[in-house]
Amino acid sequence: MLEMSAHLETPSYQSKEVPISRLPSLDAVKKSGRRKGEIMIDLTKFCSTDSTRFNIQNPFSLGEFTYATDGNILIRVDRLGNIAENPKAPDCERLFAEAIARAEPDWMDLPEFKLKRDPCLTCKGTGYLKEGTKVDIPCAKDFPGAFLCTDNCADGVVLSGYAKIDGVALASRYLDLIKDLPGIKISVFKPMKPVRIKFDGGEGLIMPMMEP
Ligand SMILES: [Zn+2]
Repeated sequence: MLEMSAHLETPSYQSKEVPISRLPSLDAVKKSGRRKGEIMIDLTKFCSTDSTRFNIQNPFSLGEFTYATDGNILIRVDRLGNIAENPKAPDCERLFAEAIARAEPDWMDLPEFKLKRDPCLTCKGTGYLKEGTKVDIPCAKDFPGAFLCTDNCADGVVLSGYAKIDGVALASRYLDLIKDLPGIKISVFKPMKPVRIKFDGGEGLIMPMMEP
């Protein structure tokens, strides 16, 4: 998987300050001061679960929008009143501006895709890793200092598979994340540039995969 941009990279080191729980919770998002009739999108599922990428583990607001990203997918919706700004957040406004300036979008339906699920070999299917190591040390969820396994692993399961649109390969796990967004449409741009998506209430970018 290519990274969206160097701007989305975070230092790779362990932090003892990072709790396993990710805030704000969906409940907190639901309690936001949304206007009547607005569509509720769960932004937390687009955030990074990598404990080393502390600046993108939660949604953040900037300008007119509230953003969520894991480094490969970037979603934005109209600014939510209860989601704070994050000075350490990546420069997402620039990424959207570049994508919008690149070409007129040719909006299409999502392609069909298959999502493959395999047990994660890194965390031995537990979904958690022990503090201080990222490989080969499985541990229980309640182990002191345990942290969530990497972005490719969700609850001990690695999601794989991809689909191609106009020769651009997109990971099934991201297609699966966006497939239920209301009115979802996609527009690909060649070569290896972020794919644009739009949905009722927001828009997004997804980095294509390297040619599988
Ligand atoms: Zn894992």
